[in-house]
Amino acid sequence: MARSYHIWTLGCQMNVADSQRLASELEKMGFRASEQPDEADVLVVNTCVVRQGAEEKGVSRLNLLRPIKQRYPDKVIGLMGCMVGVRDPLPLRKRFPYVDVFMAPSDPEPMIDFLHERGLEGEAISVEDEARSLRDAIQDEELLLLPAHERGTLISAHVPVVYGCSHACAFCIIPFRRGVERSRSVGEIVADVRSLTRQGVKEITLLGQIVDRYGKDVGDGPDLADLLRLVHEVGSGEGLERIRFLTSHPKWMTDKLLDTVAELPRIMPHIEVPVQAGDDEVLRRMKRGYTQEDYRRLIARIRERIPEVAINTDIIVGFPGETEAQFMQTYTLLDELKLDKIHIAKYSPRPQTVSERTMADDVPEAEKEDRRKRLEDLHARTSAQINASFLGRTVEVLIEARQHDKWRGRTPQNKLVFVNDDSGDRLGQVVNAEIIWTGPWSMQGRLPGTQVMPQAEVIELKEA
Ligand code: SAH
Repeated sequence: MARSYHIWTLGCQMNVADSQRLASELEKMGFRASEQPDEADVLVVNTCVVRQGAEEKGVSRLNLLRPIKQRYPDKVIGLMGCMVGVRDPLPLRKRFPYVDVFMAPSDPEPMIDFLHERGLEGEAISVEDEARSLRDAIQDEELLLLPAHERGTLISAHVPVVYGCSHACAFCIIPFRRGVERSRSVGEIVADVRSLTRQGVKEITLLGQIVDRYGKDVGDGPDLADLLRLVHEVGSGEGLERIRFLTSHPKWMTDKLLDTVAELPRIMPHIEVPVQAGDDEVLRRMKRGYTQEDYRRLIARIRERIPEVAINTDIIVGFPGETEAQFMQTYTLLDELKLDKIHIAKYSPRPQTVSERTMADDVPEAEKEDRRKRLEDLHARTSAQINASFLGRTVEVLIEARQHDKWRGRTPQNKLVFVNDDSGDRLGQVVNAEIIWTGPWSMQGRLPGTQVMPQAEVIELKEA
C-alpha cells in the first residue's frame, strides 16, 4: 500500500510555499497526499507565530496529534515553520515529546532524512515515471513536484525568492524565526517557475518578507525588477499568464521596479505595500523607516506609473501607546488614499521583539477591537465603491476554481470574480467577463453572448 502524508498549513503564503516544497520531496519519495488525516503515515503541522492567536492554533493542532501518536506510534509527526524557527528546537522537544521531526521554516530536509534513515519510503508508484518525464523536460534543474491531485488543477502558485528578513520592525517576530535575509539564486527560481508551469500553473507569485529587497543581500546581482523581467521572459514560452510579487516595503520600492511592472504585460498591476500605521510617532516607534508623507508620496508615485493599479496594505491597530488621535491619523490616511485592500491586525506582543521587551501592551482589547471594526467598516465602504467602478466593464479573469456552481477567478488587480458558465471547462483560462454585479468582497461577471443573470439570483460569495 502506498504511504501517505497530510500537511496542515497555518499562516502566510510563505508557509503555503514551504508546505509545497515538503510535499514535493515526499511525492518524489513515493508518498501521496491523503485527504483523511487519520489515515496518513506522515502528519505535519506547518505553524505561524506572527500573533498569539496564530500560535495557539498550531498548539491546539499539535495537542490533537498527541493521542494519535500514542495510539499509532508508527505514524511520523512533524512540526514545521515559525514555531520551530531557525534556532535549536530543544525546548520544543521537551514540550512536544511525541513530535518526531522539527523543521525550520522553508527546510523540509530533516523530515526527508528521517524517513530515509528509517527506510520509510513510499512504493515506487507511477509518480516516479511521471516525475522523470517532467525532470527530463526541465533537464538537469531541480524539480518542484506538485502533489498528484494538484498537477493540472493548481492554477496559482507561490515561489519564494528571498527567505528570512533582516529589517527588525519593533513588533515583528519573523526575523527571529525565519533568520536573516537570503536571496535565492535566479537559477533556482527559474527552475521552480519551469517546474510549476509544466504542471499546469498559470499564475506565479514571487514571495519575500520584503520582496523588493530581492538581491540586495548579495550585492551587484539582479534586483527584483531584473528578476521579474527574466521570469516574464521564461514564462512567456511556458504558458504562464500572470506574475505577481509580495510583500513590498515602502522604503525599497524603486521607480525601476514600478516601470517594469507597468511595461511588462504579464506582470499584474497589483502592489502589496503595508503601511502598518498612519501616525509618524507610531511609525517611528514601530521602526518602519518612513513617515505618513513618504507613504502618501509613494502611493502617488505607484499610481502615476502603473495604470489601474490595485494597492493593498496591512495595518496594526493598538500598537503600544497608540492614542485615539494617533489611530485617527491611520483612519484618515486610509480614507484619503482609498487603497484596494486592507489586512487589519490587532497588535499582539511577541517574544523577543523590541515592542514586547520595552513597551507595555497598554491599549485595552475592547479598544483594539473597536479600532479594528472602524477600519473594517471603512474598508468595506471603500471596497464597495472601487468594485462598483467596474460595473459594466469587461475585464480579464483568470479562472482558478469551480465554486458553488460558478467559476471563480481574479482580475489583473486580484479582485475576486464569479462567472456563470456551463458551456465547458474554463479552469486555467483567461476569460473576458462583463461585470454585472459588484459588492465589497466580490463581483459577478458574464461571458459575451450569455444571458444576464436575474438580479435576484445574484448573491455575494466570499472566497472559500
Ligand atoms: N514583511 C511585511 C510584514 C510581514 S508580517 C512588512 O514589512 O510589512 C504580516 C503582517 O502581520 C504584518 O504586515 C503585520 O500587519 C502583521 N503583524 C506582524 N507582527 C504583528 C504583531 N506583533 N501583532 C499584530 N500584527 C502583526
